Formats: sequence, C-alpha cells, structure tokens
Amino acid sequence: RGLPDGFERAAIIDPAAIRHNVETIASYVSPAKLMVAVKADGYGHGAVTAARAAVEAGADWIGVAHVTEALALREAGIEVPVLAWLHTSQTDFAEAITQNIDIGISGWELEEVAAAASALQTPAHVHLKIDTGLGRNGCTVAEWPELVARAAEHQDRGLLSVVGIFTHLAVADEPDRRETDEQLEVYQAALKVAEEAGLSVSLRHVANTPAAFSRPDAHFDMVRVGVGVYGQSPFADRTAEDLGLRPAMELRTRVANVKRVPSGQGISYGLTHRVDRPTALALIPLGYGDGVPRIAVHAPVQISGRTYQSVGRVAMDQFVVDLGDPDTEVQVGDEVVLFGGDSGISAADWGRAAQTINYEIITRIGGRVPRLVA
Ligand code: PLP
Repeated sequence: RGLPDGFERAAIIDPAAIRHNVETIASYVSPAKLMVAVKADGYGHGAVTAARAAVEAGADWIGVAHVTEALALREAGIEVPVLAWLHTSQTDFAEAITQNIDIGISGWELEEVAAAASALQTPAHVHLKIDTGLGRNGCTVAEWPELVARAAEHQDRGLLSVVGIFTHLAVADEPDRRETDEQLEVYQAALKVAEEAGLSVSLRHVANTPAAFSRPDAHFDMVRVGVGVYGQSPFADRTAEDLGLRPAMELRTRVANVKRVPSGQGISYGLTHRVDRPTALALIPLGYGDGVPRIAVHAPVQISGRTYQSVGRVAMDQFVVDLGDPDTEVQVGDEVVLFGGDSGISAADWGRAAQTINYEIITRIGGRVPRLVA
C-alpha cells in the first residue's frame, strides 16, 4: 500500500470501497432502486472508475449534471440508464437522445427536447423536475400544471416518454428540520397534478445520501446518491464509519523538504503563523493548485504513521507542517497522507479546517494529482 515508486503524489481510488458503499446503501433503501451520481468527475474520483464500480455493485442508474458528462460515460462503455439534469442553451439534446441519455426537464428544455426528438423521429426519455423548496433548478409549483400538461401532450404525440418525476432536498443533512416534510408534501401534490394530467411515471426519485439514511419516507422508487457512495458522511454529527461506509479516496504525497528552524520563524505568505519554539518543518508538495484549500489552517496530516498539523497559509504548490521537534526522524521522501486510507484523517476533517465540507474537499482535488485506481 502507499504511493508506488515514481509517484510524487496521487489520489488513490479504491473501487472496492465504492462497491461496498453501493451495496450498503442499496441494502438500506431496498426495494428502492439506486441512481449513483458521478457528476464532477465522480466527485473527484474519476467518473468512469466510479460508474464502473457502482454498476458492478448493482447500481441501476447513473446520474450526472451535464449531457457532456453523460456522453463521456457512454463513450467509455457505460450502458446502464444515465440521467443528465442541468442544461444550457448549448446542450446537445439530439446527441443525448441518440445516445439514449435520459434528460431532466425543469421548464424551457421541454420544447427543445421535443423538437430534437421530432427531428430524429426517436422519443426522448425525460424526467420532470419540480422545485419543491430548494429554490435552484426545477419547475416552480406555479408553472408545474402547465409543464405536465405540455409533457403529456408531447408524450401522446410519441415525442417523449416521461419516465420520472424528481425533486432535490435542501436540508436532508439536518434530519430535524421541518422543511424536508414541507418539500415532501409539495412533491406529493405535484405527483397528483401529474397523474391528473395523465402522466403515470415509473420512477419517483427524491432522496440524496442524507435522505437515503434518514428519511425512509423519501425513498420512493429510487434514491439518487452521491457522497455516500464515495464513503463520505453528509452529516456533521455522524462519521462515514457510523454509517457503515468506507472512504474511496486517499490523498498521498511525499515530504519534499525538512528543515530545522528557530523559535519565531514565520511561515508562508502573510506570515500568519510563527513557531513558538525551535522545531522542524516538513514541506508538503500539494497546494491550492492541486485543490488543497488555501484557507485551511491546522489541518491534519499523517507522516509515517504520525499525525501533525499544517501551519501558515497553503500556497499554490506547497504547504508546511510543524513537526514539533528539531530532532524529528521525518525525512525527505517520507509518505504523507492528507486524508483517507487507514490514516484516521477524513476529508471531513479537512473540511472543518477549511470552513467547507467533505464534498468540496474530495471534488476539488485537481488535475495535477494523478488518480491511481487501487
Ligand atoms: N441529486 C441531485 C439533483 C444532485 O444535484 C445531487 C448532488 O448534489 C445528488 C442527487 C446527490 O447528492 P448527495 O451527494 O448528497 O448524495
């Protein structure tokens, strides 16, 4: 285990962990089906790696934001149903239909998709999205009756097949908040409106990872889960381990330099930190150019099995760890784990050190860091 020879840094991706997490969540939500979100390059893990592992473990659907992400999966040979839900005026709906990609519809897309389907003489598979309270993508409640009526018409004309109706939750990671109940009520009412318009859909899907774990009443026919599949907890007060999940990304590098410094030595741009005793510093060759947040302070880092803390500002390519002892045995080349593996350090720990969440920590790891599939 660890970094293979020749590697200075890598995000080591564990498909067995992804498979384990998919199986764990599937057994939790059964009989609901599972759509696994692999948008944003599989939350930083590699979209194709994540999708393959998910499908091997029994995922029924794959979900992405952009049609371009869906097309890349088709290109890589992923054959299960794929849904893409966030579009612009430049989205190639014709190619989506040709490649058998299901299209999420929040409003304006409906006519464009119907026109593309008509030109291709191939019905588009669509999922209608209602905004039940998140205030982001999705059709407003006011415009929903009109959207379902038009979708039903297009379906009757053979241009569309309305496969699903979905919505996205705003506060499912805080299970005590009542807004989730309100969103579910709005969703139920929207289903009724659709049914009255003659749309009977086979896939009602609402739950993200937190709702998969905390809201059985939101499971419906399918859950759409992302972060849990990567072995990350969406809850502030429950770890991945608490949920039976295994982190699928380990971020490793090697110590680039070790030096002894006197008390009072300032560290990195802005000299926001000064050491208060003679110590040794390890230089870690990862920075915000690799997706390590510049704002992170006192972030945990494991070097040769011991945990230390970062000091001073993270720079573009590097940051500094205080080893606490001028006589340290840490040497250039020693392996460093930022999070994951059996380090005991989680992406959530880095999230806390950088005023963000584990989702962002894993997803932003940059293109300069090779992904190594374990
Ligand atoms: N569904 C939609 C529409 C999303 O945008 C996302 C991700 O943000 C998910 C599902 C998966 O959410 P999570 O990673 O919390 O499981």
